[in-house]
Amino acid sequence: MFASTAQMCRIAKSHGFAVPAVNVVDGISLRAVVAAAVAEASPAIIQVSVKTLQTVGVGPITAEFQAAAGEATVPLALHLDHCPDRSVISEVIAAGWSSVLFDASDRDLGQAIRETADVVAAAHAHGVDVESEIENIIGVEDGVGSDSAVHSYTAAALVDAAERTGADLLAPQLGTVHGLHTGRSVLLPDRVRELLTLTDKPVVLHGGTGLHTEDYQAFIAAGASKINISTGLKRAYITAARDYLDWAHANDCWEPLALFAAVGAGVRTDIAHYMPVFGSSGTADLVKAELR
Ligand SMILES: [Zn+2]
Repeated sequence: MFASTAQMCRIAKSHGFAVPAVNVVDGISLRAVVAAAVAEASPAIIQVSVKTLQTVGVGPITAEFQAAAGEATVPLALHLDHCPDRSVISEVIAAGWSSVLFDASDRDLGQAIRETADVVAAAHAHGVDVESEIENIIGVEDGVGSDSAVHSYTAAALVDAAERTGADLLAPQLGTVHGLHTGRSVLLPDRVRELLTLTDKPVVLHGGTGLHTEDYQAFIAAGASKINISTGLKRAYITAARDYLDWAHANDCWEPLALFAAVGAGVRTDIAHYMPVFGSSGTADLVKAELR
């Protein structure tokens, strides 16, 4: 079932859980995330980075998603992750995706607001939701981002910008980093709380891989309603592939289809474990009932 990203997150926020938003890299991982969502009766957001989009192509990803979501009994959205490039955003709007993250975090505030407002107008004309990032989240992911905080604002300034642009979801700095956590991060669930006293727009937690259960739950208790997992899927994918290839080599077995199945099973199991932690397991029917 094809669903709106913003509506699913608003429903999740009102019921105190978060929707898992998982970056997939191909059809195998896309189907594995959908299978995890179906097994857990959880809504899910399938995300794609610009790098993956350019490698696989808009057409094949859209077709894979439509096939998987059309058969699935749970609400699913298709989302373009961190994209600073207007032409790529236009492509996925035309392809009928659920939502885009327009990443204007490398621009000064005035320009970021102007460009985001333009993207929101174009996206909303086609029923596509916009997640807005004007502060940069630390860490480079698939070639997008920076390792230092270039732009940081007050919660009031972020909410003011969101009101002016009409963005549907906010991606603020919350202390998490993209990629594998190397040092000790100072996590900022109270910043989610502060933002949500000023706006009812859903707040997104980026860099969700590798946090402890109590960290996820602190962010969800504060109101975060979309949690992004990217590195976690990549790690599960490569680990499952390596384990299968080690076995295949030892057993003189050369069957690519068995490799695909092993990777799919490894990704499905790993992604499914986030859903009870995020509180989204078993909520699919509730979300479907509340989606307009
Ligand atoms: Zn991110």
